[in-house]
Amino acid sequence: MNTIRTLRMTAPTHTVLEGGGFPVRRPSAMGTLMSPFLLLDEMGPVHWDPGQAIGAPAHPHRGFETVTYMLQGAMKHEDSAGNKGDLNPGDVQWMTAGRGIIHSELPQDDFLEQGGVTHGFQIWVNLPSKDKMMNPRYQDIPSQEIPKVTSEDGKVWANVIAGSTLGVQAVIDTVIPITYIHMKIQQDGSHRQVIEKGLNGMIYVFGGTVHIDGKPVQDGQLGILTDGDEVVFEAREEDAEFLILAGPELNEPIARYGPFVMNTREEIQQALQDYQNGTLA
Ligand code: FE
Repeated sequence: MNTIRTLRMTAPTHTVLEGGGFPVRRPSAMGTLMSPFLLLDEMGPVHWDPGQAIGAPAHPHRGFETVTYMLQGAMKHEDSAGNKGDLNPGDVQWMTAGRGIIHSELPQDDFLEQGGVTHGFQIWVNLPSKDKMMNPRYQDIPSQEIPKVTSEDGKVWANVIAGSTLGVQAVIDTVIPITYIHMKIQQDGSHRQVIEKGLNGMIYVFGGTVHIDGKPVQDGQLGILTDGDEVVFEAREEDAEFLILAGPELNEPIARYGPFVMNTREEIQQALQDYQNGTLA
């Protein structure tokens, strides 16, 4: 018999200013309940006047992956491995920092000049100890290559960034098994999602309210699921829009300092030293 996942708890978000004034909504750290996710930032939505948009100039990362998913706006990125690209609405950049990368994430020139709305997500996915020093890897996936699917009754829509839903498999290759789905459910619609037993499962709601086992998770809340084989999402009195995230519990110590996430303090000191010596990336 399949066991149904229920809602274990919800966590509120707080708004913080990242990188010199970029407003993000960030769920309270749930520690190992969020494993393997280290961070989930909803960037904006924020309206920039002409000339005002900001991003993150060159900075390093080691030991994990940063995944950027744009809904609105226009960013550009460039890194020390020679990768370069634009991020427009619907595009995803899955950047595996591994041993080390230095990159910048900035508004595109036209966007900066004209102003506009930026909205999107950046999540940090931890790497297991054995993969932390892997070669950096970079997957830049334009919106049109990310599989989209609508349910038979037309009430459920999904953008399948990683993992699978409604019989559709993502195209992005992940180091550890990750589910990352952007889903919309219309009022009175529901969806049954398989999340393999043993994986940590959670949702982040950024529009409306979704019910899990009769309990609401509202706009701006992270909902942590119990273990089980599958979960049923229902949109009752309003439409719901949310991210589904799942992945394995890594069960390893986390040593974290700014843009470096390793297992021990010594490894963090090594990362800082490598960065200072210019040998990180
Ligand atoms: Fe970064």
